Amino acid sequence: MTQTLHAVPAGDAIDATALKADVLKHLTFTIGRAPEDAALGDWRMALSFAVRDRITESWLASERAAREAGAKRVYYLSLEFLIGRLLEDALVNLGLAEAAEVALRDLGLALGEVVADEPDAALGNGGLGRLAACFMESLATIGCPAIGYGIRYEHGLFRQQFEHGRQVELPELWLEQQHPWEFERPGSRLRVGFGGHVHQVEGRTIWHPAEEVEAEAFDTPIVGWEGQWANPLRLWSARAVYPFDLNRFNHGDFRGAAEPEALARTISRVLYPDDTTDEGKALRLKQEYFFVAASLADILCRFERDFDDLALLPEKVAIQLNDTHPAVAGPELVRLLHDERGVEFSRAVEIARGCLSYTNHTLLPEALESWSEGLFGHLLPRHLEIIERIDAEHYGAHPDRPGSIFEHGEIQMGTLSFVMAHKVNGVSALHTELMKETVFEGLHQVHPDRIVNQTNGVTPRRWLKSCNAALSDLITETIGAGWVRDLSQLERLEPHLGDGAFINRYAAAKRANKAVFSNWLAGDYGLKVDPDAMFDAQIKRIHEYKRQHLNILQTIAAWQAIHDDPQADWTPRLKIFGGKAAPGYHFAKDIIRLINDVAARLNADPVTSKYLQVIFLPNYNVSLAERIIPASDLSEQISTAGKEASGTGNMKFALNGALTIGTLDGANVEIREQVGPENFFLFGMTAAEVTARRAVPDHARRAIEGSAPLARALGALRDGTFSPDEPGRYHGIADNIAGGDHFLVASDFAAYHAAQTDVSRAYGDRETWARMAARNTARSGWFSSDRTIRGYMGEIWGAAPLID
Ligand SMILES: *Cc1c(COP(=O)(O)O)cnc(C)c1O
Repeated sequence: MTQTLHAVPAGDAIDATALKADVLKHLTFTIGRAPEDAALGDWRMALSFAVRDRITESWLASERAAREAGAKRVYYLSLEFLIGRLLEDALVNLGLAEAAEVALRDLGLALGEVVADEPDAALGNGGLGRLAACFMESLATIGCPAIGYGIRYEHGLFRQQFEHGRQVELPELWLEQQHPWEFERPGSRLRVGFGGHVHQVEGRTIWHPAEEVEAEAFDTPIVGWEGQWANPLRLWSARAVYPFDLNRFNHGDFRGAAEPEALARTISRVLYPDDTTDEGKALRLKQEYFFVAASLADILCRFERDFDDLALLPEKVAIQLNDTHPAVAGPELVRLLHDERGVEFSRAVEIARGCLSYTNHTLLPEALESWSEGLFGHLLPRHLEIIERIDAEHYGAHPDRPGSIFEHGEIQMGTLSFVMAHKVNGVSALHTELMKETVFEGLHQVHPDRIVNQTNGVTPRRWLKSCNAALSDLITETIGAGWVRDLSQLERLEPHLGDGAFINRYAAAKRANKAVFSNWLAGDYGLKVDPDAMFDAQIKRIHEYKRQHLNILQTIAAWQAIHDDPQADWTPRLKIFGGKAAPGYHFAKDIIRLINDVAARLNADPVTSKYLQVIFLPNYNVSLAERIIPASDLSEQISTAGKEASGTGNMKFALNGALTIGTLDGANVEIREQVGPENFFLFGMTAAEVTARRAVPDHARRAIEGSAPLARALGALRDGTFSPDEPGRYHGIADNIAGGDHFLVASDFAAYHAAQTDVSRAYGDRETWARMAARNTARSGWFSSDRTIRGYMGEIWGAAPLID
C-alpha cells in the first residue's frame, strides 16, 4: 500500500484504488487523452464519468424495483431546476469523497480544484428552482420513484458582472463544455404542436397544429444519500422535425436552409431571467406547453406500458405542478384522455384532477400568471376550448361562482391550476393561511379541503454536509452520522449546548470557515477583512419586497453614526450582498448600483472601514451560496411581511449557525418558533400591520419625521455622497422611499435599526453568540427537504418509499 493510501480506512482505500483506475480508463477511452496531456477539465470529465457509472447502476436498479413493485410514481414538473454543481454532491452521496481525494492526490491533483472547475447548472432564477433541485435529491434519498421534468436551456440564468457598479448581463455558457452527467436520448423524441385549427370528425375532436417541433430527452440521474436510490431529471431540448431544408440549400439559400432548426431551437434557448413577470409572452407560453406536452406524453407512455386501465391513472401517477408555469398540464391531460383516448369529458377531468396537484409560490399580484385569450387561443386553440368547458362545468357545479378561470379577458393560470388539482399547497404556514384569505378566498370556500401546507425545506446533504465540513464533522463526532439522513437528530445536540468545550469547538468551526472565506475574498476581490468581524449576509434575488434597500440605508446610517463618534466601541462588521436583478427591473438595478457605490465609499473611508465594510459579490449562484453561508454570522431575512412565500435561504443560514435578523414573513415565522424567540432578532410589522399601515396617508413621511437616522441616510442619497459625479443618481430611490413606499422601507426602518443595534451588542459576547448559533443548528432539523417531501408523499401524492 502506498503512503497516501495509508491514512484512510480500508474500505476507502479499496474505493480509491478502483476509482483511480476508472478515472484513468475514462480519461483514455471516453475523453481520448493521455494523462500527460490532460487539462484540469479533462480530469474533471474523467472523474465525473467514473462517478456517473456508479450512479447509473443505482438508477437502473431503482427503475427496475419501481416497475416490479408497480409503485405509484411522482412526476415533478418545473420550468426551473437550479442545480448548481453535481460532482461533489454525487461524491458525498456515494460516500466517495475521501476516496476521490486520495485517488486524485495520487494523480497529482487536488479534489477541491477539480470540483470547482464544474460550471453551475443555473436552470432557474432563485428559490423556486432551487427548491425543485432539493426535492430531486430528497426524493432519491427517501427512495420515492420519481422523475423531474423541465427544459434543458442552452443558456441558464445570465452571468452577472459589474461595470462601474452597474449590473451587466452576459449569456451563461454552462453547456460550452461537455455536460458529463446527462444521457442523450435521441431514440425518445416526441412531437409537440402549436397553432392550427380544431375540427370534429364523427363526434371526435381533432386538433391539427400548424407547426410542430420535436422534444428530445436528456436524462440526468440524481442519486440520494448513500447511493441506495436514484431518479432521473429529464430535461427536454427542442429541435426541428425536419432540421435541414435541402431544397433551399441546393438553391444556394444556406441561411434559409438552417432556419427551421434555428426557430425550433429558440424554444429551449434561454431561461426567462425574471421570476415575477413574463416577458416575451408567446415564446414563454410555447416553452410551457412544449415541456408539459412532452412530459405528459412520456408519463402516459410509461403508464400504458405497465397498465391498461386509464381509471388506474390517479392510483399510479402523481403529477406535481411547481407553480403555474406547467398549468397547461390540466387541459393537456384532459385532451389526451378525452380527444385521443375517448374517455368521456367530465370523467377525463376527474381522472386528471386525481393525478394533478399544484404548488403556489407567490401572492404578489404582478407575479400571478395570466394569458390573454387571444394569444392562448392562437397557440393552443383546442386547449382554450377545453378550459372553457372546464370553467363552465365548474361554474355549473358551483353557481355562486367563487372565481372564474377567465377574468379581465385573461386566463388566470392560478385559478385553472386550483380547479384542476386535487390538492393545492402553500410553502409555509403563514403563506398557506394568506392564500386562503387572498388569492383563493372564494375557491377555498367551495373546496375547503383542497388547500394544504407543505413548508419548504433544503437538503442537508448539500447545505450542511458538503458545504460545511468543519461543522458537519463536529456534529458527527458529537451525535453520530445519523443526522444526514434524519435531520431531526440534530436535536441530540441540545444537551451539549451547556458544555463550554462543545461551544468552543462550534465557534472554532465557524471561525475556520470565516478564515477560508476571508482568504478567498482577499485573493479574488482584493478586499482585506478581519475574520473576527461579524459577517452579515443578504444573498437572494434583488427585489423591492426583499428590501435590500432597507439594508443599505441602515448601513449608511451606521456609517454616519460611526463618523460621529469614531472612538466608541463599535462592533466590526462585514456586509455581504449577492443577487441578480431581472434585466428589465430598473429599480432593482439601481439598488445594485447604490450598494456598489456605498461599498466603494465606505471601504475607502480611513475612519470607519475598520468597523464597517461592504462587498457585493457578483454572479450569485448556488456555488457562491455554498461558500458564503457556512462563513456567515448573521442572516438578513427582512422582506415586507406577507410578501415572501417561504424563503429557503433563511433555512440554509439557520442550519449553518447564522442568526436571523428578520420580519415575521414566510418560513421566518417557523424558524423563530423552532429556534426560540430569544435566538432570533425579530423586528417590524406583521402582515396585518403592513396592510393597515398602507392605508395611512403619508405613512412614509411620518416614518421619516420620526427617525432622524433615516432622514439623514436619505439625505446622503440626495446630496450625492455616493455619486459625486452624478448627484441625482439616487434621487429616484430616495423619492420612492419618501413617496409611495409600497414596501414600507421607511415604516420599518426604526425597528430594523434598533434590532441591528441589538445584534451588534449581542455579538460582543462571543460565547453567548456561539451558543445561540449552535442552538439554531440544533433546532433546524425541521427544515430538511426530506421532511417536506414526506409531507407531499403522505398528504398529496399518496406515494410510498421503496427503500427503508
Ligand atoms: C437558496 C437559494 C435561493 C433562495 O434564496 P431566498 O433567500 O430564499 O430567496 C436563491 N438562489 C440561490 C442560488 C439559492 O441557493
